[in-house]
Amino acid sequence: MERARIGLLALQGDFTAHGRAVAAVGGEAIEVRRPERLAGLDGLIMPGGESTTLLRLIDEYGFREAIPEFVEAGGSVYGTCAGLILLAREVRDPVQSSLGMIDVTVKRNAYGRQVDSFAAIGSLRANGGPPVSAEMVFIRAPRITRVGEGIEVIGELEGEPTLVRRGRIWAGTFHPELSQPFLIHRMFVEAARRR
Ligand code: GLN
Repeated sequence: MERARIGLLALQGDFTAHGRAVAAVGGEAIEVRRPERLAGLDGLIMPGGESTTLLRLIDEYGFREAIPEFVEAGGSVYGTCAGLILLAREVRDPVQSSLGMIDVTVKRNAYGRQVDSFAAIGSLRANGGPPVSAEMVFIRAPRITRVGEGIEVIGELEGEPTLVRRGRIWAGTFHPELSQPFLIHRMFVEAARRR
C-alpha cells in the first residue's frame, strides 16, 4: 500500500518533531509553506507554537481559505495545541480570530503559570475500541471548555476532553509528537490514508 502523504504546516512551531513521528508510523512527511503544496496530500498537521503568530502567517500566505478547501476536498487535518486554537470555533482569554472549523470553545494558556508544562497519563479511545492509557504532554496548553454537538471526544484527562474529532478534523490540547510510540500519529495517518 502507498504511504500516506502528510503535510506539516511549517510556518512556525514544532513541525520537525511531527515529521519524525509521521515517519516513525510509516507516513511520508512533507513540509508545507505555501497553499499550493497541499495538492495531493492526504492529511495536514497544524503544530503547536504560538497561535497569534501562526494566525498572522496563515493570513499572509493564504491558508485561511486553503485549509478549509483542503478538508472539503477530502483531506484530513489535525491541529495540536496552537493548531487546536486555530481550528476552534471560539477562542477565549484573550478572544482571538480562528478558522472556526470545529465546534469547540478553547481557553488559551488555561493551566496557569505553576503548571506551565506537564505530562500526565490520559485515556484514549482508539478507533471505537476500549480506552487505552496514553501519555499526554501539555505545554502552555489550552483547555477545551465546550464541546459542540456531533463532536467525538477521543482523548480525556481527568474527565476533561483533550482530543476531539469531527469527521476528518482532529484537534487536541497536548503534544502527541513528544510521546512514543506515537499512537495518535498512527491513528491519524491511517485515517487520512483511507480517503
Ligand atoms: N499558548 C500557546 C498559544 O496560545 C499554545 C502553546 C503550544 O502550542 N504549545 O498559542
